Amino acid sequence: MSEKYLYSNDKSQPPKINVLMAFPGIYSFGMASLGFLNVFKMIDTIEGVYAERVFTDSKTTVVHSKDVDVIGFSMSFELDFMSIFKILEKFKIPFKAADRDENAPLIYGGGPVLSSNPEPYAEFFDLISLGDGCGAVQPIFEFIRDNRDLPKKELLKKLDEKFDFVYIPSLKTEKTVVKCNKAELPNCLATTILSEESFFSNTYVVEIERGCPKKCKFCQTSYLNHPVRYLDYDKIIASLDFGLKHTNKIALLGAAICAHPNIDDICGYIIKRVDEGENIEMSVSSLRADCVSPKTVEALVKCGQKSTTIAVEAGSERLRKHINKDLSDEAVFKAIDTITQNGINNIKVYMMIGLPTETKEDILAIVELGKEIKKKHKTLDLTFSFSSFIPKAHTPFETEEHEDIKGLEKKYAYLQKELTKIGVKIRCSSPKWDFWQAVLSVGGRELSDFLIGVYENGGNLGAFKSVWSDCVKIGKFKDEGNLSLKKVKVNSPDVWKFIKIYN
Ligand code: SF4
Repeated sequence: MSEKYLYSNDKSQPPKINVLMAFPGIYSFGMASLGFLNVFKMIDTIEGVYAERVFTDSKTTVVHSKDVDVIGFSMSFELDFMSIFKILEKFKIPFKAADRDENAPLIYGGGPVLSSNPEPYAEFFDLISLGDGCGAVQPIFEFIRDNRDLPKKELLKKLDEKFDFVYIPSLKTEKTVVKCNKAELPNCLATTILSEESFFSNTYVVEIERGCPKKCKFCQTSYLNHPVRYLDYDKIIASLDFGLKHTNKIALLGAAICAHPNIDDICGYIIKRVDEGENIEMSVSSLRADCVSPKTVEALVKCGQKSTTIAVEAGSERLRKHINKDLSDEAVFKAIDTITQNGINNIKVYMMIGLPTETKEDILAIVELGKEIKKKHKTLDLTFSFSSFIPKAHTPFETEEHEDIKGLEKKYAYLQKELTKIGVKIRCSSPKWDFWQAVLSVGGRELSDFLIGVYENGGNLGAFKSVWSDCVKIGKFKDEGNLSLKKVKVNSPDVWKFIKIYN
């Protein structure tokens, strides 16, 4: 592997604990994950801790799980549980915490999926850290290092007492668990290890803001990361300067980078360096349609980007208003004008179907929107990329229903036909996979055995369906009213209500 560490760690002293930080996926994806890389760095730089990364397709120097004190996972997607099982199986570690003995490593979890609704996975973890990892990871691992000789049960109890953002599923006390959510981003979160084989090869990624003030009612990112925090301009520039000493590829990351109060200055700084002769390649996460600036697009074009993405979500203004998107058609057209006039002729538009209150008119409005855009920009390479609405815990839409698979498939077939006719390319999510994602996003602990069964039966769609039927037959699910093969809707979301979002 061709890697370059962008930090130093003093490992002259023998370690007191050994930690494996596992990414639930392959190496190239893990090395592109800013969250994973930064959690690893936080652990790797603690005195007395030896840390190593592991991926589903990589080897480690660790031969036996008894040589490891903690294995950590960060869950970003509901279906990550399959990779977690794969890694646990590799080390012959029982999946459920209750089946693991004193010698087994502690299994630690974090990340957005577990912060939102840890319950379907709760039985697999000894401890879960809720919310931002920034202020949480180091104190937790220092505490484990300093108390490593305690029996496992006692250590977990102490962790539960000491940190309000640590959730110990085996204890599940009455206590409310709050997220560790710092009011300010302490420092720039940026790439810590450059890798040639990363999905974003040798790219230095800088998170310039976290959260989003728009609070669209379906958006987990906005609600889990509230309040929105923007990193200081000076810190961003210092970080970019540092990154550009090691690579010429940079990326700006954030839920809404265009909303950063200094985005034009940041882009202006990059443009100046390019104009002075530097070869810089820059990319950004998707742009918020209501605040795309000519400067941002100019910077992207000067840095070689040929396409960009905006999120529109719904076809009609009515539905956009209902989901709190608050984005007029005029604003969408203006954003597309700004992007095309400044040199980008390939635009991807994020759309959702199955949103609460969606009607036939809203679906027709998606096609109308495509027509209007194509009428104004005949040569524009335009793609509508669709996903279906999935209810997420801690959002205002958490108790809304996920539309049934047949309904979604019908809508996709219609959109495919109509949009293709007018020259708009279309990408659609899989309604079947979306369904299982919805089950996991609102389900509870009753899903533990189901998930193990799915993994043991190959983890494909067929396995999900047949294991589900088996579980229903033997009465595994107590309340099939919430989750059935036809409908995913939580009537009383008590399963995650013991987690309070701390603002
Ligand atoms: S604008 Fe985007 S990031 Fe912001 S709340 Fe809405 S969906 Fe989430």
